[in-house]
Amino acid sequence: MKAEIISIGSELTSGKNLDTNSQWLSIQLAAMGIPVGWHTTIADDFDANLQAFDIASQRAGLVIASGGLGPTQDDLTREVLAKLISQPLTFHQPSWDTIVEMFTKRNRVCPDRNKVQAFFPKGAEPIPNSTGTAPGIWMKAKQSYIAALPGVPREMKSMFEAWLKTRLIELGLAQGVLIQRKINTFGLGESAIEEKLFDITKRGNDPEVGITASDAVISLRILASAANEAEAFKKIAPAEEIIRERLGELVFGVEEEELQDVVHQMLQKAGKTIATAESITGGVLASKFTKVPGASARYLGGFVTYSNEVKMSALGVPAKLLDQFGACSKEVTLAMAEGCRQRTGADFALATTGVAGPGGLSPDLPEGKVFVALAWKGGSQSETNQWFGTRNEVQSRTAKMALNILRLHLLKEAKHG
Ligand code: AMP
Ligand code: MG
Repeated sequence: MKAEIISIGSELTSGKNLDTNSQWLSIQLAAMGIPVGWHTTIADDFDANLQAFDIASQRAGLVIASGGLGPTQDDLTREVLAKLISQPLTFHQPSWDTIVEMFTKRNRVCPDRNKVQAFFPKGAEPIPNSTGTAPGIWMKAKQSYIAALPGVPREMKSMFEAWLKTRLIELGLAQGVLIQRKINTFGLGESAIEEKLFDITKRGNDPEVGITASDAVISLRILASAANEAEAFKKIAPAEEIIRERLGELVFGVEEEELQDVVHQMLQKAGKTIATAESITGGVLASKFTKVPGASARYLGGFVTYSNEVKMSALGVPAKLLDQFGACSKEVTLAMAEGCRQRTGADFALATTGVAGPGGLSPDLPEGKVFVALAWKGGSQSETNQWFGTRNEVQSRTAKMALNILRLHLLKEAKHG
């Protein structure tokens, strides 16, 4: 059994408003073990709605729609559902009483127009709405159960929680749980990661393992459905173990953890501090460090040194190095990191330079070419990379690359003392 979510409204199909109801409903259903097979979004058009519900009721065991239940001309869901099951719309007095009461409580006169909201396709059941005027509709068509809810997210959510969820459980549609575990990696591309995990990302595997990329962070999502949480985690554990074994230090965190969170924790554990000297990232790296709650315990501060002059005056980068190698070079980046470390007294300093684009500086310095350096007491290290992306992406990925160098260094220190 699979569910279909239908979102109704011309404001959605026109792109004016984002359909967030489908996302929310899908997450709720997944948590109940009901997989969602389709998302359909339709404009406020009678024929298009009828067609969408007709198709959905043939392929999905459960259809949850939102929108089109208001009192105005463009709200068609009621009529569409009546037509779908070839039944007339019939008046439901208790629903009308509730609507009138709703207005009275707010010291307003109930417009006659709202009366349409008390009409239901014959045989359908009203879904109570305690936060708005429009009741929902529960009915059966062909092989599927259909629930129509209002479009207003707050009303839709409260009706799902208060009524629909229980109904789905009573009907035995909720098949245990669907649990997701997200493992985050940095350092290799999507296809290179997949190559290492080809056997477990194969389609049809149980648990299912998918790969998603988000701004150079590649995540593996392990999806397990089972009768209960404990069973689901039993399926997830061995898959996670294989992923961690094969990817090793590429794995930096789980769920919503970001590189700066992990680096902050590691610095905390080691009792060490960090400062930054940024050219290409223009403060993005500093911003990542300061996003972490409690950052001030570990992050001392940073420099944004864009011109050669400021690289010299603020960080003490030798003019000779800038002349000989240019600002975007391994040598200058290392000197920036070392200068930053000495001037701030931090245990570690990270520096970034490069070409954010659009456009390159020379054949050796194309758009996206970047340098990152880490300095610590007694040593330093640098890395270079070539990104393909927008200016923003090059900046944020370079900041991540810097965080990752520090992460790997801290891992090594923790291992070897
Ligand atoms: P309706 O029930 O169609 O009158 O919708 C009322 C309001 O709810 C709309 O004007 C939208 O602002 C909002 N809305 C409707 N559908 C959605 C949706 N799928 N996601 C987010 N907001 C929605
Ligand atoms: Mg609407």
